[in-house]
Amino acid sequence: RSKNSGGNRITFFSTEMNEQALIRLELESYLRKALQKNEFHLCYQPLIDLSTGKTYGSEALIRWNHPKLGLVSPGEFIPLAEETGLIEEIGSWVLRTACIQNKKWQMMGSRDLTISVNVSAHQFSQPSFIQEVTNALRDSGLEPQYLTLELTESTMLRNIDYSISVMKALQKLGVRVSIDDFGTGYSSLSYLRNLPINTLKIDRSFINNLKVDTTDIAIVKAIITMGHGLSVKVVAEGVETKEQIELLKQLNCHYAQGFYIHKPLMISDFENNLLQTI
Ligand code: C2E
Ligand code: MG
Ligand code: MG
Ligand code: MG
Repeated sequence: RSKNSGGNRITFFSTEMNEQALIRLELESYLRKALQKNEFHLCYQPLIDLSTGKTYGSEALIRWNHPKLGLVSPGEFIPLAEETGLIEEIGSWVLRTACIQNKKWQMMGSRDLTISVNVSAHQFSQPSFIQEVTNALRDSGLEPQYLTLELTESTMLRNIDYSISVMKALQKLGVRVSIDDFGTGYSSLSYLRNLPINTLKIDRSFINNLKVDTTDIAIVKAIITMGHGLSVKVVAEGVETKEQIELLKQLNCHYAQGFYIHKPLMISDFENNLLQTI
C-alpha cells in the first residue's frame, strides 16, 4: 500500500502518525460516551485550615473509569476534552455534581463546608458559563459563598479583559475565585493587583520539595506575604510531609491540601473519616 506514497521514509512516519491518531480517536470516541455511560465520578480532597487543623472544605477532582482502559487520569483526558469541546458537557456535570454533593454534606451537619471546582479554559470562555454557574447553584440549593472556582493563570491570561469581566460577574454572584497552580504561569504583579480573586493556590511544585534553606521556601514565603498584602487567602497544594506543614504554619499560610493530610477521597471515605469531625 506504500507504493504510491513516496517511499519508505514517508510510510514510516505516516504509519506512526496514524497509530497516534487512532489512539486519540479511540480515546475521543470513548470520552464522547463516558457521560451517558456513567463512567465519571468525583473524588473530594480535603482542604484544611492551618490555624485550627480542621477541614473546611474540599476540592472536587474528576475520575474516569473506563471498562476497557481502566482508570484514566484527568491529566490525560482533560486536555483532550478541552480540544474537542467535550469539556463543556463534562465541566457542567462536574459543577452540578460537586454543588449537589457539598449541599448534601452541609445538610448532614457540616454547615460551612466549601467546595472547590476546577474550571478549564474552554469552559470559562463559553458565553453561557455564568448562567451555568447560576443554574448549578439554583438546582443544588448551595449558597454561592460556599463555591470556589479554580482557574489557572493561563486560562485568565488568554483574554485578560474578558476574564476580569467574567470574574467580576462571578464575584457579583457571590462565588469565590481562586488562582490554581499559582507561580507556574506568567501573571505579572500588576495583573494580580487588578484581578478580582479570593485565593491563591501555590503550585505543588514549590511545596513538594519544600525544606528549610531552599530557594523554594523563599518563593513560598514571598507568595504568602503577597497574599496577606493583597488580602487574599493562600492555599498550599501538594503537602507531602509533616515538616512542610510545620513550615507553612510558621509562614502563616492559611490553608493546605496534600497527600500528607488526605488523598482525594471517595464519597464514603470522606463521610466516614471526616464529616463527623468537621
Ligand atoms: P489541580 O487542580 O492542581 O489538582 C491537584 C492535583 O494534585 C490532583 O491531581 C491531586 O490528586 C494532586 N495532589 C493533591 N495532593 C497531592 C500531593 O500531596 N502530592 C502530589 N504529587 N499530588 C497531589 P489529579 O486529580 O490527577 O488532577 C490533575 C489535574 O487535572 C488537576 O490539577 C486539574 O487541573 C485537572 N482536573 C481534575 N479534575 C478536574 C475537573 O473536574 N475539571 C477540570 N477542568 N480539570 C480537572
Ligand atoms: Mg485545582
Ligand atoms: Mg493545582
Ligand atoms: Mg496542578
